[in-house]
Order: sequence, then C-alpha cells, then structure tokens
Amino acid sequence: MEAKPVLSQLTPYKQGKQTKEIQQEFGLERIVKLASNENPYGYSNQVKEALLQGLPDFNIYPDGYTAELRSALANKLEVAESQLVFGSGTEEIIQMLCRTYLAPGSNVVTATPTFGQYKHYSLIEGAEVKEIEVTADGYHALDKMLEAIDEKTRIIWLCSPNNPIGTVIPKEAFEAFLNNCPKHVLIAFDEAYFEYVDPEANIDVLSYIKSHNNLIVMRTFSKAYGLAGLRIGYGIANHMIIDKLNVVRGPFNTTSIAQQAALVALSDDVFITNSYEKNKTVKASFKNFLNQIGWKYFHSETNFLLVETPISGIDVFQYLLERGFIVRPGELLGIPKTIRVSLGTGEDMEDLQRVLLEFHNEAIVK
Ligand SMILES: *Cc1c(COP(=O)(O)O)cnc(C)c1O
Repeated sequence: MEAKPVLSQLTPYKQGKQTKEIQQEFGLERIVKLASNENPYGYSNQVKEALLQGLPDFNIYPDGYTAELRSALANKLEVAESQLVFGSGTEEIIQMLCRTYLAPGSNVVTATPTFGQYKHYSLIEGAEVKEIEVTADGYHALDKMLEAIDEKTRIIWLCSPNNPIGTVIPKEAFEAFLNNCPKHVLIAFDEAYFEYVDPEANIDVLSYIKSHNNLIVMRTFSKAYGLAGLRIGYGIANHMIIDKLNVVRGPFNTTSIAQQAALVALSDDVFITNSYEKNKTVKASFKNFLNQIGWKYFHSETNFLLVETPISGIDVFQYLLERGFIVRPGELLGIPKTIRVSLGTGEDMEDLQRVLLEFHNEAIVK
C-alpha cells in the first residue's frame, strides 16, 4: 500500500517525556514536568464537584452541536452561537482549517519558530508552507509574512502569544497587517494562551471579526483552564467560515464529559484570575533569577519562558532531566541554544532555580 507521498517526510508528534519513564530511568522520586505549558494549579474545583455529582451517560453519543457550552460561551464572548465551532482541542480546529481550505497547489504562510502543527497539517493536505523567520527579539515579521502571500495562499497562521517564544502581536502592527492582508487569505489567529496575556498587551482580536470575514480566532480549555486531558478547544469567526468547518468536522468530535467540564470551568472566573496572578508572580521571580545569573530570555505573555542557554539546549535539558526536571530543549522547537520552561508552582520553580544555579556554577563559571 502507498500512503500520500508527503507522509514520507513527516513523523508522528514527539511528545515530551512521560513522568514515569524518567522516574524509572534515573531512579528519581519526584519529577517536575515543565514541558507542555500545562496549568500547575490543576483545574477549577467546581469542575471536580460537578463531575462528582453526576457523570454524563457514557452510553449516549455527545451533543454534536455542543448546545449548552455553545450558548454559555456565546454569551461570555458576546458573539452569535453561529460564530463558534468546537474541536477536540485547538489542535483539531487547526486540522479542520487545513482540510477545509488547503489542497495541492495552494500554500500557507507561518512564522518560524511557531507551533509546529500548522505546518504539519498543512503539508498533509498537500499545501506548500512558507516559513518566515521571526524578528531578532522574537516577534512575527508581519511585513515579510505579507510579502510572502501570493494568489495561491489560503491561510496565514498567526500565533499570539507565539509558542515557543511567548511574544504577542502588538495592536498597531496587527491593524496595519489587517489593512494589507488580501481578502482571499484566511487569517488563523491562535490564542491558546489568551488567559495569561497581560490586559495591557491584549489586542482584543475578537473585535475585528465583525469587519473581517476572513479571520478566525482559536482558543482552548487546555492551558489556563487546566483541562488538557479532556481535549476541548474552540474557534470564533464569521458564520460563513464556521459553516464550512462544520461540513468537515466529525459529528461527535468533542466528548460529553469535556463539554460538561468546560461549561463549569467557563463560569469559574476566580480560578482563571488566580492562575493568571500566580503565573505572573512566578514569572517575575524566575526572570529575576535569570537576570542574576545573566541568562537572557524572550518577552513572554504566557505561562512559559524561552530561555537562552550558554551551551546547547539539549545538554541543559539533559542536566535538568537527570535531576528530575523536564523542560523542552529549543533544538526540538526550531530555536537552538534555548530551553522552553513552563512555569510551575512557586515551590517547584525555586527547586528548579537551585539546580540551574548549580549548573551555572559548575559548567559556566568554573
Ligand atoms: C497548546 C497549544 C495548542 C493546542 O491546544 P489543544 O487545545 O490542547 O489542542 C494550540 N496552539 C498553541 C499555540 C499551543 O501552544
């Protein structure tokens, strides 16, 4: 049998190491996972309580329309219900966009480095991927991205905040971009870390959907809401985009338990505010520590920091791994000599800082 030719250039997603694996390999008691930008404070207690009070009927298919969550989310975001689409994580929305808009002969434009799944799913649909290097300080090079657009471009992927860097697209730059982006190109704006963005840096991208029917914004319950294991995310756009995505979407693509949990999570603003505040505090003290040892990092509006390492990121990753901390080496994310550190609890970060200081003193200062 022959698979699509493009699959010979692609590999399955390589996830961060699993905790158990590492415990066994290095005989460690405690592992701190700082590799997948998960919420270290778990998820809303209200979700736990609601699930304990009554589980969905697992023998019944979920509501394919996601009616209850749809209605609550439409209210919260002040958009019409017809402007929402749900997916098994944002991941699936990205996949749906590729299936809806891309075919051999078309192309997409992305930043590099950025979230790898835009490229992956675009290639699978046979599109060419034009990757435009971010600026030296880690921002999308929007002018160059615009220049890369041609008549065959179908999607431009914008990731803001950008994983694995953490920078957001500034408002002025985005408005200039919107004015110049041709209407035949779908602007796919990924805001997976939206809840972590400082209000001052938030560009209120949803407000442009009314005037731009070629814009879709994607968000998720996986990061700040702490529900990564349940797989649910959503897209917000003009209903004409949503109508197309609904043709491609599997009829029961989000589970009943994910819908139920997300509905409750959405109403617990206190949990989100707390997560935001704690993250902000931890980020400030980690940056302070890095300043003290003289390591550079990129600006971040997220729950992770991309840190420049004095030697290969893989070597620093390995050093930390052997001492019970899992981070992501930048070499795997397209930005060598860095590590991406998800921000854990204050305590875990203090432990990490102790180990990083040891590394710094041993390997660097000597
Ligand atoms: C984590 C992440 C996602 C994936 O989110 P899911 O909803 O869990 O699929 C999407 N985009 C970016 C930029 C991310 O970092």
